[in-house]
Amino acid sequence: MRSEDAATTRIPLSEPRFDGREAEYLQACIDERWVAGNGRFVREFEERFAALHGRPGAVAVSSGTAALHLALADLGVGPGDEVICPALTFVASASPIHVVGATPVLVDVDPETFTLDPAALEAAITERTRAVVVVHLFGHPAEMDAISAIAARHGLAVIEDATEALSSRHQGRLCGTLGDAGCFSFNGNKVITSGGGGMVLARDDARLEHIRHLHKHARVPGTTEYLHDEVGFNYALSNLQAAVGLAQFESLDGRLADRRRLAARYAELLDGAEGLRFTIEAPWATHNFWLMTVVVDPARRGRGRTELLRALNDQGIEARPFFTPLNRLAPYAGGAATPVADHLHEHGICLPSSAQLTDDEQQRVVDVLRA
Ligand SMILES: *Cc1c(COP(=O)(O)O)cnc(C)c1O
Repeated sequence: MRSEDAATTRIPLSEPRFDGREAEYLQACIDERWVAGNGRFVREFEERFAALHGRPGAVAVSSGTAALHLALADLGVGPGDEVICPALTFVASASPIHVVGATPVLVDVDPETFTLDPAALEAAITERTRAVVVVHLFGHPAEMDAISAIAARHGLAVIEDATEALSSRHQGRLCGTLGDAGCFSFNGNKVITSGGGGMVLARDDARLEHIRHLHKHARVPGTTEYLHDEVGFNYALSNLQAAVGLAQFESLDGRLADRRRLAARYAELLDGAEGLRFTIEAPWATHNFWLMTVVVDPARRGRGRTELLRALNDQGIEARPFFTPLNRLAPYAGGAATPVADHLHEHGICLPSSAQLTDDEQQRVVDVLRA
């Protein structure tokens, strides 16, 4: 690349990287004429994923949203039930709660980790509360000790939305293994992608097998007759998608190391920048640094979050606001106030976080932030 181009090249927020055996595995699917569900790449991806998480099995599914829907459906959550969920998250943490006919109850988050505030969780519990969807936002684990203790005390199921938190750890234990069910996403911008896809883990083997049953139309095995013993879904991951997902999974360690290095460099370049707070990693946490962020302190800076976002975008840098708190969206409006989620939305910026971001690109981002 010519040097005068470097300053204007677009820097994406989070771009996939394909540097493994993706093409080879895809070709194998075509050569073997096995592109749909139930293929060998699906089985191998599930086995490898389960092994990483120390579980006997995992169910590969068509998306993270499907994973969350299955986790709720398996538990039998439905009309009349309430499910507590943080307000500051992607909408797909909450939409499956609606889809099963239950009511999402949105609560506030912690200002440091951006994840579910255990006190807000406890305050929102009613007689109708059945479950809590815990989101490890941007890859930082939620405070699972406190949350699990509250859930146990009130008999609530815990569903982890670990879609952003592949390989993040809470006190050394992997996210997605800490609740009753763990839901992952391999959407295009996540740590690994299958071009759309997800995975479900469950603490209880019988639950996992029920989820496996539900994800392919609840068809009764062991007969060629079309017998279905409950209402199921078409949520299987295709062999094509699993081929890509498995190839990406094989380089997971390298991807995580790259992200950790990027986070350290951002922290170093932003050190001492007045009124900008970079992503934290709590002492009990291992962050996967899926998305790195700054929170702007408007009192200590001339330019607020909106002006900074505009300045970044003007320089071809794709930075984004934090998610809009879901209680500000029409289908999810109402409920308790969420001042921390509101504050973070108003002052937070997601920074370019692709694993392959170069030193020069990071410097360009920081130059605009510090200007
Ligand atoms: C990506 C994401 C999802 C949904 O995953 P898909 O695979 O896109 O369906 C759910 N929750 C959160 C927090 C996400 O970031």
